Amino acid sequence: MPLELVTIPCLKDNYAYLLHDPITGATVCIDVPAAVPHILAALADREWSLSDIWITHHHWDHIDGVAQLVAATGARVSGCATDAHRLPRLDTALNGDFTFARQRIKVIDVPGHTVGHIAFHLPEEKLAFTADSLMAAGCGRLFEGTADQMHASLQKLAALPPETLICSGHEYTTDNICFALTIEPTNAALISRSKEVASLRERNKPTAQVALSTELATNPFLRTQSAEIRANLSLGTAADVIVFAEIRSRKDKFSTKTVSAHSLFVTHRRQTEISAK
Ligand code: ZN
Ligand code: FE
Repeated sequence: MPLELVTIPCLKDNYAYLLHDPITGATVCIDVPAAVPHILAALADREWSLSDIWITHHHWDHIDGVAQLVAATGARVSGCATDAHRLPRLDTALNGDFTFARQRIKVIDVPGHTVGHIAFHLPEEKLAFTADSLMAAGCGRLFEGTADQMHASLQKLAALPPETLICSGHEYTTDNICFALTIEPTNAALISRSKEVASLRERNKPTAQVALSTELATNPFLRTQSAEIRANLSLGTAADVIVFAEIRSRKDKFSTKTVSAHSLFVTHRRQTEISAK
């Protein structure tokens, strides 16, 4: 009997995930944003009791709820051993693969966004929790690691079986696809995915859980071989990692523009509100 997966939207655009084994009752929460009442409600609705918490990386939006969730449930916390000094207190400091609910859990080192970032791969379930490494149509910003590191990390994830469901940490897909279309505008798979994502978002449905096969066909960070991307970046025969680094740097500027346009809008709206008083 397969494990049951629940996606929990948290904060503005984060995700926490629950994975439950109906046979042993073991239940894990992967990443814990400070939205613990939502997570406890999702557990209570299903009459599940939380046994474990797995942490992907040290950023506040993935760990700020850990202490409160441990206090409420007594769950055991596992995270990357080399990042233990900046994670909540770990019961298990992970150095490699482990077992959960009769399953082998593969821990994949995916540095780039942060240096101690890990992903959890469940080969039998065809599931991978990638948080801010590989994201739907994108990847995390390089806050600590290098382009070389992130490129190598994404290559590891790209080599998983294509039917693997990639569960990532944020609802950033719409922005990621807008950017991807600027450098690969005639990619038919990307155009069709953009329509699918627009329709899901209209209904407020999550889109950050996607088959690796779709990512391979649409995510520009996995498509450094694309002739169209290379032509648009004027990097015809460059090494893959050079193409990756250029895509990442353009995406940084693209997102900054989007963010500043958004904050201008917010500022403008606030002023309008003030003046309307
Ligand atoms: Zn992060
Ligand atoms: Fe994050």
